[in-house]
Amino acid sequence: MLDAAFFRRWLTRVTAVVEREATALTELDSAIGDADHGSNMRRGFDAASAAVDSEPPDTPGGVLTAVGRQLISKVGGASGPLYGTALRRAGRALGGEPRVSAEQLRDALGAAVDGVRDLGGAAVGDKTMLDALVPAVEAYGAALERGADLAGALDAAAAAARDGAEATIGLRARKGRASYLGERSVGHQDPGATSTSLLVAALADTAR
Ligand code: ADP
Ligand code: MG
Ligand code: MG
Repeated sequence: MLDAAFFRRWLTRVTAVVEREATALTELDSAIGDADHGSNMRRGFDAASAAVDSEPPDTPGGVLTAVGRQLISKVGGASGPLYGTALRRAGRALGGEPRVSAEQLRDALGAAVDGVRDLGGAAVGDKTMLDALVPAVEAYGAALERGADLAGALDAAAAAARDGAEATIGLRARKGRASYLGERSVGHQDPGATSTSLLVAALADTAR
């Protein structure tokens, strides 16, 4: 079972990873966007960490909801509202329980996908964060079905997210700023799919 402390450890890890990878994320965004994805992620997760440290929620749902709220209010770019909505929906799906199961986490991840789809209107193949998130959530569910434990299922999710992010190189963007480039967006990895793969990898590392 996963408690609020697990999700706080995830947040600490994500904040450090985003800090470390901010320059690389911004470089990806400079090729097909407006060169701010790393700074957007950093501003959002720094604010989320500060908020959760100053008023620690005592449930998993509370932690995810608090992170989502900060991302929505502190990040101007598309990724802030999209990740923020995803995390708020995930938090709501977990409700007010002090501990949640691997299966409840699967439902929360599904709610996060629905949140991104509802707000952004993108589908898999449009070269967005969904190209990493959807395969990750599917791999996680499939691994649980096969009888994997939480850490094993999250490892499968992290591998699928990384592969999905890498596969965006060959895609043409149909949503977000990169879509303005049309065919010229092909050949570059999507920044948001890349940051999604970092968020999922951090989840797997937290469970290890
Ligand atoms: P902005 O494009 O506003 O500068 P960011 O650079 O922070 O915002 O984030 C860009 C990322 O957001 C893209 O790489 C893509 O993965 C994701 N994104 C943009 N639009 C959408 C959308 N409609 N649905 C899902 N993801 C999207
Ligand atoms: Mg950008
Ligand atoms: Mg921007």
